[in-house]
Order: sequence, then C-alpha cells, then structure tokens
Amino acid sequence: MALRRSSSSGPRGTRPLFDDVPPSRRRNMKAVKGKDTAPELTVRRLLYALGYRHRLHVRGLPGRPDIVLAGRRAVIEIRGCFWHRHPDPNCRNAVLPATRREWWAQKLDANVARDARNQKVLEAMGWKVLVIWECETRDVAMLTLQLTQFLGPSKAAQEENESRSAQAPLGHTLLHD
Ligand SMILES: [Zn+2]
Repeated sequence: MALRRSSSSGPRGTRPLFDDVPPSRRRNMKAVKGKDTAPELTVRRLLYALGYRHRLHVRGLPGRPDIVLAGRRAVIEIRGCFWHRHPDPNCRNAVLPATRREWWAQKLDANVARDARNQKVLEAMGWKVLVIWECETRDVAMLTLQLTQFLGPSKAAQEENESRSAQAPLGHTLLHD
C-alpha cells in the first residue's frame, strides 16, 4: 500500500534538502530555526522562575531579539548551535554536514555575520547582550548562574532583601508611575 507519497521533492539545486544531515539532527535543526524552540522555552521558564520580567521578540530592535528586559536594557539571544555555528569545538551540534559543506558553510556564515551585526548595533544603542547557546540550556544550574550574573538580582530578590533589611511597610515601595 502506497498511501503516503514522499513529499520531499523540493527544488533541488536551489536549496539542499535536510537529507544532507543525519536524521538524529534534523529535527533539532528545524526546531532551532523558529520561535518558541525548546531551548528558548527553557530560558523563558527559568527567567520567570527567577523573577525576571521580560518581553519576547520585540519589534523595532535589530534582529528582533528573542528576549528583552527593557528595564535593565538587556537582551538575551538564544542561538541554535547548528544554524549560528557555535564556535565551541566541543559542540557536536555545530558540526557541518558531510555533504555540500561549502553551501552550508556559506549559508551559516551569513547567519553568523548577521548576528554579529545586530549585536554590534544593539550594543551601540546601549543594550547589553547575552548570547546563550542551545547546548548550554541543558545545564540548568550553569544557565541560572549565567542569567543572574548577567542580569543582576531579580526584582523579586531585591524586594525580598529590602523588606527583610528595612522592614518597610507594604505599600512603601511604590513604583513611580
Ligand atoms: Zn553548542
């Protein structure tokens, strides 16, 4: 029974198909291309748990950064190791496919160049930028450390400290509006 036809007949030549890449990595690559990827969700959940308020995919900033903490003038970029060529020699995700290496290298280098450009512009605008690589999101303890060092104490942690040390009455720490 041939109920299912292969739908992988794209315009060869214009764009190599994912069959350059071992199946084990294919899903990963596709996932890392879009929004709301698993690594991104990990970081967002962690930020939330740590009490850092943030916004997502903010328009009007170069490269439309994944996560923006406007109050801290901070941007967090979560980069897929394959698509953005994680420069860590120990990162196995960043290895180029065995075939059509040149094509891949060219394509991915364009991503890297764009990333660098966007980061430069953001920093020139006074934003600080933290890049988190996909493979770094597996170690939650390290990730937590990375985030808190980059962002400083969260608002929740600050408020807790303040109320503990000053015993300020509730309502005293009003936000100016
Ligand atoms: Zn990596």
